[in-house]
Amino acid sequence: MNREDYVSMLAKQCVHCVTKPCQVGCPLNNDTTGFIALAREGKFREAYELLSKTTVLSSVCGRICPHEKQCQGMCVKRVSYEEVSIGEIEAFIGDKALENHWQEKLNLPNKKKRVAVVGGGPSGLTCAAFLRRKGYPVTIYESHDYLGGLLYHGIPDFRLPKDLLKKVIDSILELGIEVKYQETLGKTFTLQDLEREYDAIFLGIGANISNKMNIPGEDLVGVYGGNELLETQGHPDYTDKVVVVSGGGNVAMDVSRTIQRMGAKKVYVVYRRSEKEAPAEAKEIEDARKEGIEFLFQNNIVRVVGTDVVSGVELVRTKLVSKENSSRLVPVNIEDSNYILSCDYVIMAVGSKPDESIVSSLGVACDSNGKIIIDESGHTSFEKVFAGGDVAGVKGTVAFAARSGRNASYAIEEYLNS
Ligand SMILES: Cc1cc2nc3c(=O)[nH]c(=O)nc-3n(C[C@H](O)[C@H](O)[C@H](O)COP(=O)(O)OP(=O)(O)OC[C@H]3O[C@@H](n4cnc5c(N)ncnc54)[C@H](O)[C@@H]3O)c2cc1C
Repeated sequence: MNREDYVSMLAKQCVHCVTKPCQVGCPLNNDTTGFIALAREGKFREAYELLSKTTVLSSVCGRICPHEKQCQGMCVKRVSYEEVSIGEIEAFIGDKALENHWQEKLNLPNKKKRVAVVGGGPSGLTCAAFLRRKGYPVTIYESHDYLGGLLYHGIPDFRLPKDLLKKVIDSILELGIEVKYQETLGKTFTLQDLEREYDAIFLGIGANISNKMNIPGEDLVGVYGGNELLETQGHPDYTDKVVVVSGGGNVAMDVSRTIQRMGAKKVYVVYRRSEKEAPAEAKEIEDARKEGIEFLFQNNIVRVVGTDVVSGVELVRTKLVSKENSSRLVPVNIEDSNYILSCDYVIMAVGSKPDESIVSSLGVACDSNGKIIIDESGHTSFEKVFAGGDVAGVKGTVAFAARSGRNASYAIEEYLNS
């Protein structure tokens, strides 16, 4: 069966509920049942145009959104374990639009007021696209010499092919967006420079500094932050080495699979809760397992062992208990269950935060975790300045980052017209 027939077959599984729970589950509020109905009739261009009202990232989100936790997780057919594969349908429509160059061609006079977008990840790209579609001249300032943010340097090629991502980004830039590469806010220019030059500013600079576990031995040679490893590709040689990855989310899955594919002898993923509570999608865990990664659930790293260089980790087993004021089961270390696991490298993948040296220099109000405080429209404490995505603590997925960029574009438009 070719891909088009397969997707039409998937689309026929939708029962088109009136209440549209899948749309409610989509952070971008895509008209899910609407585009599926069009896909069912083979009207892919119309389906693409409907999707374009809410997103510019269909080929991306169709592939890497945690669908089980978002749209598909709300599908009424899920009760019979047959939810509609919404992601696959969306990805096909997005890909078909790229192949056939269906993207909107702008034929608008440029508005006078200009907007700067800092950061070319999903939040910045989406904000820039939606503002550009309204005729605002937009310039993206990006510290790397490429765009995409974590879509490019976080999510590995085996989950989101780089050539496809490049086509998605090119289709956004074709709207007429200017990009200034290798320009870093807080280093090569300041927020005040932008405030002088532009009428509004959107900050979408992400939060890609790995959290520390604050345990003994964390500063030994051989301990790495998972986010930085993926971003900088500063991997050591893993040949014949044993690697322990700490964490149970996306970063832990992507970094462990990347390291396994780079030739490590053995990769362990250590997570203090159970498999069921792990933030990574069940499919990601299954794929990692198939690639030979061994999971040590309900284990906690309490110390990195070694003198100057890592030689192992000390683990303790945990039990999960319910606690008042906590919606999740809480892991508690089991006394005298400690043991040592020998290894050569330890990778911390236990969450991330914004770059404090940059964010604190901006002067905008931040919370105690160093994230920029925004109101419901994305406005920061500075009049001209809006923010969204990971740097503003917006739920940590691509679709949520894109939504915050899109919604900030609406607020920026309102601000520019006020
Ligand atoms: C390994 C990994 C895997 C993930 N997997 C998934 C997944 O499967 N599904 C999912 O939905 N989410 C996933 N996520 C989360 C998702 O990628 C992020 O939530 C999303 O990319 C956040 O978008 P953003 O635009 O806020 O920031 P980012 O994607 O981080 O983009 C920020 C951009 O700003 C640039 N920048 C940073 N500082 C400056 C500066 N000072 N000046 C100029 N530019 C700057 C950066 O170079 C970057 O291009 C994953 C995250 C990681 C780390």
